[in-house]
Amino acid sequence: MSEDGEEISLNRREYLLAAVGATGYSSTLGFALESELEPELAVEPEEIDRQFEEFLYSNYPEPQVQKIDKNQENLLFDIHYVEGEEMPEEDIEIIESLLEDTGLNSVLLENEEKLDRTDYQQYGSVAPELLEDRDSLWSEQTDPIMKGNAIQLFFVPGKPEMPNKGQLKTFVDGQELWVDGKTIQGSSPRAVMAFDEPYRVKGTVHEIGHTLGLEHTEREDDIMNYEITSDTCLEFSDEQVRTMNSNL
Ligand SMILES: [Zn+2]
Repeated sequence: MSEDGEEISLNRREYLLAAVGATGYSSTLGFALESELEPELAVEPEEIDRQFEEFLYSNYPEPQVQKIDKNQENLLFDIHYVEGEEMPEEDIEIIESLLEDTGLNSVLLENEEKLDRTDYQQYGSVAPELLEDRDSLWSEQTDPIMKGNAIQLFFVPGKPEMPNKGQLKTFVDGQELWVDGKTIQGSSPRAVMAFDEPYRVKGTVHEIGHTLGLEHTEREDDIMNYEITSDTCLEFSDEQVRTMNSNL
């Protein structure tokens, strides 16, 4: 409820709960209203009903859907690729095994329908156009059934040229900044990534960390440092694992 007793609409509430994290080339962009960040991301077994299951089998590879454990809570990731940006299977396995630390059965589901590169470009390259706006990439390309049951990860083309390593743009305090990845936290966490090799897996894990409530850290080799480098360790600290768990 707001101060004048008027009920806050869901969108307004989502907006209030929303927080932003991003990896930038030279700027720290993450901030969050931590006390209000209480996403419930775990999908209970009873939520995997027949309709949901049918939807999953018709949109994602069968071996991936079969990884969902109907005897425990699951943490589902709904992966959308722009054509040509697919992750190799080994990378999927590395990320899933890192997420075992959350104690939940984590399943990365790769949407079988790839987004055409030209169709992708119509959304633009500015982070709000990709993740936040009413007609954003996230809004239009995510099935409603997945918005409430999985975290969306969008893999989009990156630009290797310096100084703009990433292709995405975002705005902080009215300032335009270039980033490689950006996450929206809150009740419908989602992230967009434009990481080039060799930092793709680390960048993806970093954004996943944001989706599960992690903020940036100062330690240079930490996976949640705002900048991903060859020194970045591909692991979560015990404290980060505790924080992620408290958000699940
Ligand atoms: Zn970040």
